[in-house]
Amino acid sequence: MAAYEYETHDYDVVVVGAGGAGLRATLGMAEQGLRTACISKVFPTRSHTVAAQGGIAASLSNMGPDHWQWHMYDTVKGSDWLGDTDAMEYLAREAPKAVYELEHYGVPFSRTEAGKIYQRPFGGHTTEFGEGPPVQRTCAAADRTGHAILHTLYGQSLKNNAEFYIEYFAIDLLMDEDGTCTGVLCWQLDTGQMHVFNAKMVVLATGGYGRAYFSATSAHTCTGDGGGMIARAGLPLQDMEFVQFHPTGIYGSGCLITEGARGEGGYLTNSEGERFMERYAPTYKDLASRDVVSRCMTMEIREGRGVGDSKDHIHLHLNHLPPETLAERLPGISESARIFAGVDLTKEPIPVLPTVHYNMGGIPTNYWGEVLSPTADDPDRLAPGLMAVGEAGCASVHGANRLGSNSLIDLVVFGRAAAIRAGQVVDADAPVPVAPKAAIDAAFDRFDNIRHAEGAIPTADLRLEMQRTMQADAAVFRTDKTLAEGVQKMQAVASKMADVKVTDRSLVWNSDLMETLELTNLMPNALATVIGAEARKESRGAHAHEDYPDRDDENWRKHSLVWFEGEKTTLEFRPVHLDPLTTSDEGGIDLKKIAPKARVY
Ligand SMILES: Cc1cc2nc3c(=O)[nH]c(=O)nc-3n(C[C@H](O)[C@H](O)[C@H](O)COP(=O)(O)OP(=O)(O)OC[C@H]3O[C@@H](n4cnc5c(N)ncnc54)[C@H](O)[C@@H]3O)c2cc1C
Repeated sequence: MAAYEYETHDYDVVVVGAGGAGLRATLGMAEQGLRTACISKVFPTRSHTVAAQGGIAASLSNMGPDHWQWHMYDTVKGSDWLGDTDAMEYLAREAPKAVYELEHYGVPFSRTEAGKIYQRPFGGHTTEFGEGPPVQRTCAAADRTGHAILHTLYGQSLKNNAEFYIEYFAIDLLMDEDGTCTGVLCWQLDTGQMHVFNAKMVVLATGGYGRAYFSATSAHTCTGDGGGMIARAGLPLQDMEFVQFHPTGIYGSGCLITEGARGEGGYLTNSEGERFMERYAPTYKDLASRDVVSRCMTMEIREGRGVGDSKDHIHLHLNHLPPETLAERLPGISESARIFAGVDLTKEPIPVLPTVHYNMGGIPTNYWGEVLSPTADDPDRLAPGLMAVGEAGCASVHGANRLGSNSLIDLVVFGRAAAIRAGQVVDADAPVPVAPKAAIDAAFDRFDNIRHAEGAIPTADLRLEMQRTMQADAAVFRTDKTLAEGVQKMQAVASKMADVKVTDRSLVWNSDLMETLELTNLMPNALATVIGAEARKESRGAHAHEDYPDRDDENWRKHSLVWFEGEKTTLEFRPVHLDPLTTSDEGGIDLKKIAPKARVY
């Protein structure tokens, strides 16, 4: 057995992750006087949320009429009727409150002439339950909205005495025999010191797993660590087959050009100079939902109308917009286009390609962020001591496809909800649980085995193999054949984990070891993605199956769940929540408005 010394820390709440979701949860917990620690493997303001450009959705009606029910309708439709109705109502209803709170905490939003928060149009956001024109619902701080939010929340968390453990890597959850989470084991990256955090509640806010793919807009740190820890704790991952491709990643680098670019009037063309989106989505055109635009772009390329020497990408035009608008509203992407594509966007189009951008699936939770441990009899059973928020979680408000600017609002609405719930269920006077020795030993053993791994395959090689497999076989378009191959190949790739080679054995700034731990987390996320995709015999949202081109609500309006036990995986399903929080008599939405129908834009 591996012997490591460790320091012990006792808290009411430990939040793992300091992105938008983790910081909003941390702040809310600390404000209520709960003793709160926030652990992050990167400096908080370097979390991927910092890269969010376009904005945050809330029906403030600053630019024209809007209503939370319209926002809810758009979210339901965007999710392709896979989201949980109660959670989607909670999101749309609480969104304005959560944004005003951000404003009061100090987020420097862009302003209208009248001094109100500026809002821009975004794909899939409409008026009159999809019958009216596009709405300006996305609140923005120029094209640096995530940056503004993250810095503000970090400052406020410090002000409220939250304690930060920065550049600490969470290795594994510590669970007791009854399946209650009692804390988390961490490795302090700069000193090699080990730490056991005991807590009454652990909140996973570890972000997405975009790096399971070869080309992704997300940071290299987005390795699905929360999902990996959950899988090893014997809990399932939900709806992992739904992976969002953003239409406009810069060709080559994958770096994002925000949807706000099309919101401000940008449009796409093919090799014939045609604005092809007009053909596919006559009403909302370039502002149709992301999965729709990504598929149309892929279709244009497949039919030989891609641009460039290899006819393998598409052009995004902003050069018709006034330079002042570009400078004021989209300064960040002007810079990205220059650095990553070598183009001056005031003069030439940007070469773009659909790129992995967001993970709709994740750790199943209710709308309070409480993690679920579903059984056949009780699909909403709670996993005690655990919450998950942000991209790591799956509440599920994005269902099969997330609308642009609905993630930032998800972070703050559910980060806040988790704090409100913790205020109710965490007893500040109760003793802090103590991690069972067996759990600590098992986590150290796993860590030590990886640290001393003496196989034949370097981590970077195995990671690349996984990324290429996912890119080829779990892509924008999917078939029975590619998915069946994908499952086989991913299982083969995952089993090579046993033959991985770590060359650096030190405990201080050992990036080789950290990346290997991250790879052990990426693997279950990637596997659950192909397994869920292979099983789902329909097309819904981001899951476009060529052999089953239609949505099949009768058989498939249900969440998928994948459990791991060593190399064995189990796939089950749980029902979608169809009931809203409030009836139409109580001021809620008329259920007829959100009844399933064909999803056209
Ligand atoms: C380029 C880009 C632009 C985007 N633009 C928008 C937009 O305009 N509007 C919108 O709504 N959405 C946007 N999104 C999506 C949205 O930004 C993300 O979904 C969201 O920021 C995720 O936030 P998070 O708090 O869940 O996680 P992250 O911000 O990814 O943070 C994860 C945190 O977890 C920590 N962590 C992870 N693993 C460990 C571990 N093992 N130990 C310790 N700490 C760990 C990290 O250090 C980090 O602090 C964009 C995404 C990208 C990639």
